[in-house]
Amino acid sequence: MMNLTNNSRLLVCLPLAAFLTCSLPAQSPITPAPKDPAIAAALQQASPDHVRATIEKLVSFNNRSTLSSMDTDLPPGTGVSAAADWIESEFKRISADCGNCLEVKRDDFIEPPQPGPASRILKPTKLTNVYAILHGTDPAQAERRVLVTGHYDSRNSDNFNTHDPAPGANDDASGVAVSIESARVLSKLKFPSSIVFVAVAGEEQGLNGSRHLAKLARSEGWQLEAVLNNDIVGGDTTPGDAGADKTVVRVFSEGVPANAALDQIRVIQNLGAESDSPSRELARAIAEISKSYFAPSSQHASAGTPAGKPHSNLIKVVPSFHPVLIFRRDRFLRGGDHTSFNMEGFTAVRFTEWRENFDHQHQNIRVENGTQYGDLLKYVDFNYVANVARLNAATLATLAAAPGIPQNVHILTAALDNNTELTWEAPKGMPAGATYEVVWRDTQDPTWTMVQSAGSATTIKLPISKDNVVFGVRSVDAAGHRSIAVLPTPTRPTRSFTPPPPKS
Ligand SMILES: [Zn+2]
Repeated sequence: MMNLTNNSRLLVCLPLAAFLTCSLPAQSPITPAPKDPAIAAALQQASPDHVRATIEKLVSFNNRSTLSSMDTDLPPGTGVSAAADWIESEFKRISADCGNCLEVKRDDFIEPPQPGPASRILKPTKLTNVYAILHGTDPAQAERRVLVTGHYDSRNSDNFNTHDPAPGANDDASGVAVSIESARVLSKLKFPSSIVFVAVAGEEQGLNGSRHLAKLARSEGWQLEAVLNNDIVGGDTTPGDAGADKTVVRVFSEGVPANAALDQIRVIQNLGAESDSPSRELARAIAEISKSYFAPSSQHASAGTPAGKPHSNLIKVVPSFHPVLIFRRDRFLRGGDHTSFNMEGFTAVRFTEWRENFDHQHQNIRVENGTQYGDLLKYVDFNYVANVARLNAATLATLAAAPGIPQNVHILTAALDNNTELTWEAPKGMPAGATYEVVWRDTQDPTWTMVQSAGSATTIKLPISKDNVVFGVRSVDAAGHRSIAVLPTPTRPTRSFTPPPPKS
């Protein structure tokens, strides 16, 4: 008997006459993937001090309104263009530290004026996105990309005010700090596929920078597998606010893809696939990855009990940090740069702190009736931003290390029976030793719960009714890095039942 190890699960193969028959391991509940020691060490390097330095520097540009790029009267070292130059220099500095491992680029363009009374851009305006590419080391996979972004522009109460302070410490210097910090800690590592670290402008005037970059990515044929947008991830710290929770970050994901055509929406309706867009599968992947790198910690249930109160010995287990998946595209009345990527058909989600303080966003700095307004540095929790950066970096690293997502994933629907038969094709550059996993969950469950390895096969038959669960297929490399799962589509279009014509 010989044993082939498969991602710590055993594939048992018996020599039987002239054939080798292998029985795959049975289905089992999903457990966190093994921690990758190199990724874990990189996450340790994410530093609240570096995050603070980045956010302080961005705040020092006084007002990062995108419209300030057209001003000619700004003091040196202020305004959005100076901020863009600094971000570019920061990516180059990081690159110099890793033997020029990053390709640093600018996406400069002129945004035309917006029409209509609600226009937030009145004249042709220069915009700059800055990005750095850590190219993959496997020629067969280097074209695959994952991307992290934040917007470096800011605003105060008046969209057209480019001179009074608009510190934008939380919205969104915090998101830019996540992108830069991810670049700093991950650029020391090598991945088979590529990672793009981004800072965009024009978010506050209507997602202009991200829209341009998403269209650029589409026109240049970027094989973008995941976009992580970080916007307002500062962990607002307002004295007296009991609702803040520094152990969680929200991850927003669209249900029905923003760019779905009417016939695609019909298929989604027929399949009950409203909660299985590629972006939502990305959100599920983030939730699973977080469990590998953020261990639960235990604390006394009475922690924080005022002195003099009886002490309880009850211990509760609290995750040290984790995402909360919000199953909607964004918050009420608000938008973000992930939607620009969704509109171009890319897989993209948004990270945002648990509880926003709207007095600290898009506001002139002032005190009114004892309330301090303004997006000030003092409300940002740098430890919190560092944790968000760790979760982003863990996700980027895992997906960049994992094989590509399985292609042409189908569920066979020819027979009316209580089994499930799935087929798929290998992603380009599937590395040696990589395998596939089928995951599933009850239809009312938010995340994948069960898994069965398919080994290296590209088809599987399971004695589980396809009507009762939702399936996904993902690839896993020999070290256990898992790709995003793919929802299978029926081999023939699912249509509403049409009764056969009556026999004459
Ligand atoms: Zn924002």
